[in-house]
Amino acid sequence: MLNRGTGGALIPFDPDEYYRRQIALKELGREGQERLRRSRVAVVGLGGLGSPAAIYLALAGIGHLRLIDQDTVELHNLHRQILYTIDDLRYPKAEVAARRIKRMNPDVVAEPIPENLGRENVDRILEGVDCVVDGLDNMRTRYIVNEACVRKGIPYVYAAVIGFEGCLSVFRPPRTPCLACVFPNLDDRALPSCETRGILGATAGIVGAMEAMEAIKVLAGIDSIEGSLLICDFIDMYISKVEISRDPRCPICGEGGRGRAVGEPEGLIWLCGRNTVNVNPKEPLGLSVEEMHERLRGRLRVLLKSPFALVLERDGVEISLFKGGRMLIKNVKGEDDALGIYEEIMGYLRGGP
Ligand SMILES: [Zn+2]
Repeated sequence: MLNRGTGGALIPFDPDEYYRRQIALKELGREGQERLRRSRVAVVGLGGLGSPAAIYLALAGIGHLRLIDQDTVELHNLHRQILYTIDDLRYPKAEVAARRIKRMNPDVVAEPIPENLGRENVDRILEGVDCVVDGLDNMRTRYIVNEACVRKGIPYVYAAVIGFEGCLSVFRPPRTPCLACVFPNLDDRALPSCETRGILGATAGIVGAMEAMEAIKVLAGIDSIEGSLLICDFIDMYISKVEISRDPRCPICGEGGRGRAVGEPEGLIWLCGRNTVNVNPKEPLGLSVEEMHERLRGRLRVLLKSPFALVLERDGVEISLFKGGRMLIKNVKGEDDALGIYEEIMGYLRGGP
């Protein structure tokens, strides 16, 4: 494989040289490295946790990384989401992440999925992966991912961070509990968010790197922390490892559980602690970004056009319109406003007046 260096010259990519210091690990060796190369990992959520996790997975030589995030890059992301720079504002995170990772390790297939993960598409999005790494910021989506992982028998590396604290585990029932055994029925509305409590970039950095560590161990056949929950307090650097056990009556992994049924797409979803709403189309829209641009450019201000999305603005409201018709509507006050904008734009796209 040849790659263009900064001076424009073609330089050879030699995997043996790239992974030399890693293959030297007796715990891994060539055989472990080959296992990593044959692995597929989904990183769900490419924020503070997903950024370092995806980077270390790519650097370790995971053969195929599926990079999933519904969101676009915002200024208040940059202090902790190390995949992005100031040049990436407004671009879809999945698109930027795939591009960056490809530059870090050209040996890796980086597959961008700029979609909103829900019950209706989770099985398709996680199809064929050997491990799922959690970069999410809400329990609602974590429960959906957990259910799918139980159903499909995929190891799930779970983590969550806030402030100076984090926790981490590897769920792979029936050997271990699942997320719902350990944290049943947590409601996001009752939990502090990164918006209200705040978060230090380094907190997410440490725990995201730990997630990559656990996923690599799972894939290379090295013992992981499965069966334990790691609880980290970075104020006094106290890290405790507590044993966790299965709930035999767990509705997800218990007797007669095996994950919940597949659902309908949810129409409108507020994003974690912000004035941002995600609206999923009832039917995917069969227009390219180019065609959407043609139909909208005289009607709203176009801030950005990328291969995956169009970002539009009107009266301070910013709309990221993704291929397929999904919209992220930012700076809206209420659901009626959001749905009004959504219907108006859909009208233009379907060829209305
Ligand atoms: Zn369970």
